[in-house]
Amino acid sequence: MHAHSSASDGTESPAQLVQQAQEADLDIVAITDHDTFAGWEEARAKADESGMGLIPGVEMSTQHEGKSIHIVSYLPDPHDVALNAELETIRKARKSRAKVIVENLSADFDISWYEVEKHTPEGAVVGRPHIADTLVTLGYAADRSRAFHEILHPKFGYTIPLYAPSPIHGIELIRAAGGVPVLAHPATNRHGHVIPERYLLELLDAGLFGLEIDHPENLPEGKRKLLTLAKKHNIPITGSSDWHGFGKENRFGDGLTERAVLEEILGQGHEKFAVLNSHLA
Ligand code: AMP
Ligand code: ZN
Ligand code: FE
Ligand code: FE
Repeated sequence: MHAHSSASDGTESPAQLVQQAQEADLDIVAITDHDTFAGWEEARAKADESGMGLIPGVEMSTQHEGKSIHIVSYLPDPHDVALNAELETIRKARKSRAKVIVENLSADFDISWYEVEKHTPEGAVVGRPHIADTLVTLGYAADRSRAFHEILHPKFGYTIPLYAPSPIHGIELIRAAGGVPVLAHPATNRHGHVIPERYLLELLDAGLFGLEIDHPENLPEGKRKLLTLAKKHNIPITGSSDWHGFGKENRFGDGLTERAVLEEILGQGHEKFAVLNSHLA
């Protein structure tokens, strides 16, 4: 659960995402592109045809005290007006931010917005991965990951933060749209810092459902702390591979969600948007 297609910054189409998850022997996969529902229709059609289980969702960008916080939302209503309006605002901010990053890069690299647009699939939500791909094509980095580590990391000064709503506002919008919000990859901090307990309680009050603990980029110390908090406050835990096709090393199955937790998600979200086929029938 929780993967990206070319509707945002994954390298594979929504149909490919479904097919490759099936080939990896998963029962169910979630398509959760950054700030867009654009991949849902193609993914649902493919799942219907192939018998794969599919949970559609969206990974919403939010920000707290200058830090980017991703909230994965499972099974929201994709026609919800308020949620769509906020996602639209974020998508616009992503585009202007990407242009500024390219402008900053152009001081030291021979790169233009025109080239980044060529590396962004038609209709896709733009992100730094598309800029990374452009840097690779231009010969400034060996692959997407290296472009991140060697050029796009904020410490080099080209990358600027993304405008995004607060996590609390994001969670409220997701719940109002009938979606189930999960804090994405919350233990990636190298120093083992995790969300303070008091703030976590605020997010739970706002409607946060769970914590995504089984994620390949979460680190052991943070995971231990979060597991303790999850036990103490009875918070469901989820997992995902955060697959991006060839754009990341993450492989399907690198993180998994327990069936019982999935059933809770189906109970709280709009189950009618899921494609369950024989799974959980
Ligand atoms: P952005 O949304 O523009 O801030 O870019 C963040 C996206 O880039 C996230 O989806 C990450 O999964 C992806 N990303 C971050 N670091 C790397 C990396 N080292 N290699 C590949 N993708 C990355
Ligand atoms: Zn991504
Ligand atoms: Fe994320
Ligand atoms: Fe993700």
